[in-house]
Amino acid sequence: MDSLPGLTDLTYYRGRVALFAILKALGVGRGDDVVLQAFTCVAVPEAIMATGGRPLYVDLEPNGSFNMDARDLAEKLSIRTRAIVVQHTFGIPARMDQILEVARDRNLAVVEDCCHSLLSTYRAQTVGRFGVASFYSWEWGKPIVVGIGGSAVANDPVLRQRLTAEYADLGWPAALKRLRLQLQYVSHRLLYRPRLYWPIRTLYRRLGSLGAAQGNYNPLVDDRIADDFSLRMAEPLRQRLIRKLRRLPQQTRHSRQVTDEYTKRITSELVRHPTLPAGSDSVFARYPLQTASKSELLQQARRLNVELADWYAQPVHPISRQQWPTVGYEAGSCPRAEEMCGRVVTLPTHPAVTRRDVDRTVRFFDQLDLQPQPVPGRDEESPLTEAGEDRHG
Ligand SMILES: *Cc1c(COP(=O)(O)O)cnc(C)c1O
Repeated sequence: MDSLPGLTDLTYYRGRVALFAILKALGVGRGDDVVLQAFTCVAVPEAIMATGGRPLYVDLEPNGSFNMDARDLAEKLSIRTRAIVVQHTFGIPARMDQILEVARDRNLAVVEDCCHSLLSTYRAQTVGRFGVASFYSWEWGKPIVVGIGGSAVANDPVLRQRLTAEYADLGWPAALKRLRLQLQYVSHRLLYRPRLYWPIRTLYRRLGSLGAAQGNYNPLVDDRIADDFSLRMAEPLRQRLIRKLRRLPQQTRHSRQVTDEYTKRITSELVRHPTLPAGSDSVFARYPLQTASKSELLQQARRLNVELADWYAQPVHPISRQQWPTVGYEAGSCPRAEEMCGRVVTLPTHPAVTRRDVDRTVRFFDQLDLQPQPVPGRDEESPLTEAGEDRHG
């Protein structure tokens, strides 16, 4: 895996902590805007806000893409903008050529959010190698799960030096925190499989609301930097990450096979398959489908115990509309992202997905008992190819 060096050198308590460290090393602070896409996870604006900076949201590309629109990006930049965080959503590469062009014109640093994408490529280059730095997450639901944790990779040597120097000052998570995480990890490993997705989700949410499980959102009180942002990843977790990365080739093959089956065998008129930008190859962390019947699909999946996730259900997941101002998101500012939240469902591709799970999932879509409703863009493109654009690489 020589396309992925350095993933275990700078490891942090969480992915958002890695992003925070990168932004700090870039000099981002109070008074600075950092661009990110809407249709993201709260971890990203949380890291931006922890630096004292302000999140500036860019909409998705038109025509059912899950990634940042370079045109909207160019329009939203202000003189306060300092950096751009580009997300390769679900493993689908963002259009890096267009985004880098905008960034170059304005002399802005690009940081890649690779939390869903390890080995996807764009124009024959692995994602994470385009910007000055990239960051990764190793928590539940990501391609590699070690518990919770994250990594930063700097492509720019000066930035790498600065990150490494600052890394030395980071602390270790306290024993109790580590124990709780370890328990969570072990139970996840023992219990989790696609057929138990719904019951485990319910249990996890209950534990989360009791404070017994690590949730996804610790609101920042005022501008005070949460404790977590000064922590690195515990050493046993780093060792686990090293072991799991060795199995990445097999895991990737499995993910591709599962994706292939979904692509060929799910033919329901109720859903639209994803399309990829020309010249890209995607290793999917989750396989996204678009539908006009999202809530009905989720209800039926829950009843039949088929793993079907609803994320992102919010432009800044999982922040509800009333709370959008707390993460600097203005209602209506990214209409395509807001619409996508009402349309997307995702299927698993992770190592626990068996042939039987795939068969059950395919049957689930075959047997859906719903009135077909038009899915925007469904008939325009064939699955996983993009029409009408030049092909490189
Ligand atoms: C998971 C995730 C992160 C980081 O999550 P942490 O919980 O901080 O590890 C960042 N961006 C995206 C898109 C993610 O899915």
